[in-house]
Amino acid sequence: MNENHYDIAIIGAGASGMMLAANLDLESSRGIILEGSSCIGSKILMSGGGHCNITHGGSIKDFVYAYGNEGPALRRCLYRHNNLELVRWLSGHGVELADENGDPVDASYGSNGIDSAGRIFPASMRSRDVLDALLGEASSNGWQIETDAKVGGLRKDGFWEITLINGYELWAKNVVIASGGITYPETGSDGSMLEMLEDLGIDINEPRPALAPVYVENYPYAELSGISVPDVTVIAFSSDAAYTCKGKAARMKGDLLFTHEGLSGPVILNISKYVEPGELLRLCYNRDLHELPRRMQRILRERSRGILGDVRTNVLASYLDHDDFTVSGVDERGMVTAGGVSLDEIDMQTMSTKRFEGLYVIGEALDADGITGGYNLQMCWSTACTCADAISDKKE
Ligand SMILES: Cc1cc2nc3c(=O)[nH]c(=O)nc-3n(C[C@H](O)[C@H](O)[C@H](O)COP(=O)(O)OP(=O)(O)OC[C@H]3O[C@@H](n4cnc5c(N)ncnc54)[C@H](O)[C@@H]3O)c2cc1C
Repeated sequence: MNENHYDIAIIGAGASGMMLAANLDLESSRGIILEGSSCIGSKILMSGGGHCNITHGGSIKDFVYAYGNEGPALRRCLYRHNNLELVRWLSGHGVELADENGDPVDASYGSNGIDSAGRIFPASMRSRDVLDALLGEASSNGWQIETDAKVGGLRKDGFWEITLINGYELWAKNVVIASGGITYPETGSDGSMLEMLEDLGIDINEPRPALAPVYVENYPYAELSGISVPDVTVIAFSSDAAYTCKGKAARMKGDLLFTHEGLSGPVILNISKYVEPGELLRLCYNRDLHELPRRMQRILRERSRGILGDVRTNVLASYLDHDDFTVSGVDERGMVTAGGVSLDEIDMQTMSTKRFEGLYVIGEALDADGITGGYNLQMCWSTACTCADAISDKKE
């Protein structure tokens, strides 16, 4: 085999690319990982504020809803390579896990899932430990990793012909796209591979930020920056229904965080992908006025004053369950990307594209994204391991 011919090329050394390499022993095959940036696993390192919320506790059956409309298509991958398997794999590679209370997560639970609620982290709370485990196993599986190897062209000519932006060319029988989405482009995830796939005729659903803070017009809560209110219901109305308030786009409940510039916290991050500028966002606080933070009570009283300066109690009461705002924008720096390669293009039993033999897509490059809580890294794991199974079967 020529020096620049490979059996498998993975494009992207992020979570999904590294999870694939850590689960695919090359044996006598040749495999290369092409990473466009100078750093491997940047988003693993920044995940969970550097602590890496790697997955979520509970039964994997409860995961499907976390991916919205794409959940049912992911079900098979999630069941086949579940959160328990991920925890066991990490434990087996020296990374002990803990739940969000710091209690150890025991990898010996039954096959349905992990008997521990909430988010799961490495017990060390260091993302680096997760990345090191993946790197160690990828290296023992025989993978060659090249950084500063940004792919600028991909075409099928018998083999897959891959051209780097520095002009270097290589060929591979199988190519796995693990190039992530469009957010945090400074990490290398800039959506360039999605454009190349679109040029090949693959259907790409428009990528946009998700898990992002939301900005609203006439935001009155800047001075509450850093204050959060638990269990707030947030309803995003779709634009054609904004004035009638009949057609809801999404409704979610969770903790709301006020920031200096806008709204954040888990409930806002989770609903952000359903929100568009110009649309109506409704906050329902689900509590009496006196149960809200004092400074917020004062702002609500001021907002409900009539022209004579009197507090109109009916207006004040309505703010508690109808605090309505017009969305002015969604922060570009979403933690994940909604949109990407349409799941209709993918055989979800193998992660292969239906159009092209030997072309696979895994991780955030897919049009699949989850709510906060470890669901996105779990999706990377489940799709990467499904792809590893398919390529291994093909080798036999
Ligand atoms: C701040 C932050 C915190 C997060 N915290 C969590 C968390 O705690 N839990 C959780 O589950 N999820 C979290 N996420 C989301 C999670 O990190 C991502 O969903 C996951 O890392 C995506 O992995 P990926 O491998 O699919 O893509 P990426 O991690 O984006 O990796 C893609 C790789 O491909 C490379 N690439 C792109 N284009 C090319 C090209 N043309 N040529 C060569 N290489 C290319 C990129 O440089 C990059 O290294 C967080 C995300 C962010 C930004």
